[in-house]
Amino acid sequence: MLTLTRLMIEIRQILQTVDQSDTLKLPSIVVVGSQSSGKSSVLESIVGKHFLPKGSNMVTRRPIELTLINTPDSAAEVADFPALRMNNITDFDQVRKLLFDMNMAVPVSEAILNDPIQLTIRSPHVPDLTLVDLPGYIQVEAADQPTALKQKIREVCDKYLQAPNIILAISAADVDLANSSALKASKDADPRGERTIGVITKLDLIDPEQGRDMLLNKKYPLKMGYVGVVTKPPTSTSLFRRGVASLDSQINSEAQYFKAHKEVYQGTHLTTVGVRSLKRKLMKVLEKLMAMSLRPTHYAIQQELEEAAYTFKVEFNDRQLTPGTYLANNIDALKLSVKEFSQSFGRNELRSLLKNQLDQKVLNLLAERYWNKPFEVKHELSVEPDLSDLPRAQDEGYWHRKLDLATSSLTTSGVGRLSTTLISNALLTEIDNLVNNTDLRNHPLAQKQVREAATAVLGARFYLTADQVENCIKPYKYEIELEDREWSSSRDHALVLLKEEMRQCLEASAHMKKVIGGRKLTQVITYLEQKEAPDSTEALGFSPTLLAKGREAIFLRDRANLLKMRHYALKSSTCKFKENKYKCPEIFLDAVSQKLSSTAILFLNVELLSDFYYNFPRELDYRFFTNMTPEQIEVFAKEDPKIKRHVELQQRKELLEEALQKIESVIALQRTKINSLTGG
Ligand code: GDP
Repeated sequence: MLTLTRLMIEIRQILQTVDQSDTLKLPSIVVVGSQSSGKSSVLESIVGKHFLPKGSNMVTRRPIELTLINTPDSAAEVADFPALRMNNITDFDQVRKLLFDMNMAVPVSEAILNDPIQLTIRSPHVPDLTLVDLPGYIQVEAADQPTALKQKIREVCDKYLQAPNIILAISAADVDLANSSALKASKDADPRGERTIGVITKLDLIDPEQGRDMLLNKKYPLKMGYVGVVTKPPTSTSLFRRGVASLDSQINSEAQYFKAHKEVYQGTHLTTVGVRSLKRKLMKVLEKLMAMSLRPTHYAIQQELEEAAYTFKVEFNDRQLTPGTYLANNIDALKLSVKEFSQSFGRNELRSLLKNQLDQKVLNLLAERYWNKPFEVKHELSVEPDLSDLPRAQDEGYWHRKLDLATSSLTTSGVGRLSTTLISNALLTEIDNLVNNTDLRNHPLAQKQVREAATAVLGARFYLTADQVENCIKPYKYEIELEDREWSSSRDHALVLLKEEMRQCLEASAHMKKVIGGRKLTQVITYLEQKEAPDSTEALGFSPTLLAKGREAIFLRDRANLLKMRHYALKSSTCKFKENKYKCPEIFLDAVSQKLSSTAILFLNVELLSDFYYNFPRELDYRFFTNMTPEQIEVFAKEDPKIKRHVELQQRKELLEEALQKIESVIALQRTKINSLTGG
């Protein structure tokens, strides 16, 4: 049957996760003892394990709240540090090292920190107990420390020594009890000696008769009495056991010692001796203490719960929120918006995106290969361009080769890579936008995860898609057949493009005119066109910058004129017919880019876009649900301060409810017990 102490320990552990507030603390046994009094040895004997750092009474700078849980059904002896989220440690050397490190992390100047280390040990060999190992207490009196620091140390210790806690005052037998600092400390906190258990260690160092007198102490009487122990490690003769002696043999040698002096200790003046008796006594005392604190704790939990429930209602309208549901809601919202986006971004949108990009390529090609020198440009806009100018300069073959080269520049420009990159980037940008419309925008790490998920899904198909697109446009590298309908639609489109280019040129010219001033610009242009102007040197009072601007203005003007001329040409009857493609490269190249983009999107749509819409939500599920631990999900949710408060308040409320329910069942259990005893 579970003892009351065990049930209360469970409640205590729940309360520990709620917070560190003093109102919800359950009583404990507080261990004090001066340096070398044998305090560590006693604690280790109770636990049955060496787990404290060597000379720990000296190095301990933080109280250790030690919870012992008896696990009769499990042979394992394990330790947990709940605050570090380190559980099931079976290597007690590691426990010792962790304790040492945690203590050493407190600067000497602080001496003692009011932040206890919580350590739970579960073992079939420990009793259900809660102990507090109070450090440094005694050094206060001895050490030569500043008064303010002494004051602080005393405050921390006094808090622990207060009722209803029980004080376990450890004194060594070979030191006069009048000088025992542990007893001195206990007397301050418990003047009537009602809550103190005295432990006399090192009885083997004194005469048994004298030891018995100490245990029956008349000078410093304690209601709970004294327990005598011998916790000295037995001297081992074996070469192989020179290290730390096993605690079993220590208990045996203690038993042997008291057996040898049976008459003295178990004679007419019966005394309590041995670690085993000490354990039993502590369990009994704690059980009683727990029973006494049942009602006050019940009341305190009720109060805290009412407070938490009220705040939860006022601040969050009783809306349930866990890190898990918060995350799920956000990911669902993101998935939904991706779905909506998928309905508005399909094959047609892909095509126009790609076509725009290819249009730009075509314009660059034209500028590079056609609109540079062969045309004789007339500056007067009113002068109609002579179409026969176009092939005039060279023989027909020249223009044929030129168009063939321009076409192959376009078909071999890596349309596969280009289009795949284009679509991938467009999707990534869109995902960023969608994330920014959800609460995920407040979570940088999650944002990164989403982006990585999208990149991973796209990356998995990237090379395959690029290759497939490249393969399927391959025929256009050799031959391009056009229908009249295609020619005519490309002619329309080319006209629109040229017009837009023209508009941009004129706009840039107008802007320049506005910035520099019309007159000044005309002056520079006139100057530049009159003579071969030097490149950058100042001329005629024009600065190099102004000269550069002048050249740019000339370029823009010429380009606009040229575009106008080409626009005119495309509109002419010559360019109505695909047979005249060599005279109308703008139309032909547009038709080619039209074919390239139509063919490319067939594959992009299936291989990249549909695949993305299918796999991206799955990748999100994997990264955010399958692959994230509950702790990580909690960290994620708490990145947002408002969510953090919501989640924490809800957790607190739930924990308090759990604690309240548990304590009520313990009270009910107690009542049945009493009823059955009294026959009621
Ligand atoms: P602490 O400083 O109070 O934690 O004391 P320790 O437990 O480290 O013990 C101080 C020293 O006293 C160590 O060398 C122990 O081996 C020794 N010691 C502890 N208990 C006994 C005992 O019952 N008898 C003898 N003779 N020595 C003991």
